[in-house]
Amino acid sequence: MNIFMIKFSDLQSINKRYAEELKRAANEVIDSGWYLFGDRVRQFEDSLAAYTGVSYALGVGNGLDALRLILLAYIEKGEFNKGDEVIVPANTYIATILSIFHAGLVPVLVEPSLSSYNLDFKQIEPKITPKTKAIVLVHLYGRVCWDHQMKELVQRFGLKLIEDNAQAFGAEWEGVKTGALGDAAAFSFFPTKNLGALGDAGAITTNDRELASMVRMLSNYGSSEKYQNKVKGFNSRMDEIQAAFLQVKLRYVDKENQWRRQLASCYLDNILHENIILPKIDHVLDNKSHVWHLFVIRSSQRDLLKQFLSSKGVQTQIHYPVPPHLQEACPEFSGLSFPVTEQIHREVLSLPLDPGLSVEDIREVCAIINGF
Ligand SMILES: *Cc1c(COP(=O)(O)O)cnc(C)c1O
Repeated sequence: MNIFMIKFSDLQSINKRYAEELKRAANEVIDSGWYLFGDRVRQFEDSLAAYTGVSYALGVGNGLDALRLILLAYIEKGEFNKGDEVIVPANTYIATILSIFHAGLVPVLVEPSLSSYNLDFKQIEPKITPKTKAIVLVHLYGRVCWDHQMKELVQRFGLKLIEDNAQAFGAEWEGVKTGALGDAAAFSFFPTKNLGALGDAGAITTNDRELASMVRMLSNYGSSEKYQNKVKGFNSRMDEIQAAFLQVKLRYVDKENQWRRQLASCYLDNILHENIILPKIDHVLDNKSHVWHLFVIRSSQRDLLKQFLSSKGVQTQIHYPVPPHLQEACPEFSGLSFPVTEQIHREVLSLPLDPGLSVEDIREVCAIINGF
């Protein structure tokens, strides 16, 4: 009988530690009779703006909407036009790319680097055309994708820098939090993210006051005054109850990220296998530049390894099995080839890395992996 069992993203154990506070927060919202547009969303927005170090934070329905609303707000402001191009990593989660399509813009896929899984700097400039208006940077797996040469490039071409910060809550670059590095940023609080709600929620951060007010309007039917609609907006708002949960969990996220780093170093120190490639750590950056949303290894025998681990009670996942350019939903990319991206999708495997796990759990997983 197999008694050893380590789950991947065990949300029950993640939220159990805060259950009392979360229940109290939920009760307060229920008793208040006020479920949208209330003090809790406003307080969470203020806390998020302060945490990130920006002037404005706006709660919205989810991470995809956050990205979409930023892009559409730039269109409403006349800074982007339909058909303009947006650079985006080819190996991101499909939401990043869908948001660009949804806004009527053209996603231009760029290969990642095989060592960081983030955008390969050298590949960006050749993809810039007179129609390029923005780069959507993705801090994939929790690792910051930003440096001085990228900053210089964005400035030289006058591009907007939009961060997809869904996977890197709490990460920093030279003391600046992700979400404050560019012109605007999108956050997702999907339950499994480093700061996770108990349902869907998202947010936008920016220092641009006009962008913030356009996003606010777009997320509420294009209206800032009741029954007066200035633009054709949507309904994408953060619920009071999710804001109340997020306010509780925001207090613990730095501690949890620190714990994730400790678990990650345990993996890095203890996995020793000739057929497994570990994530590369850039020692030039300080350790706060990675918040380990996922611990992703690579192996040419990925599928066998996944099966082996599962037979030993270790759940793993693949982020992601099919790259966006090969998805049925995106015929626009048919015929394009991205060899690095395709290799990543063939070889990556995400190991369990919940803040609910212990160093002993990780050591045990390492011993199992080394026996593969
Ligand atoms: C989770 C995620 C999103 C989308 O967030 P939702 O809240 O699920 O809409 C966008 N981009 C990336 C990179 C993500 O990981």
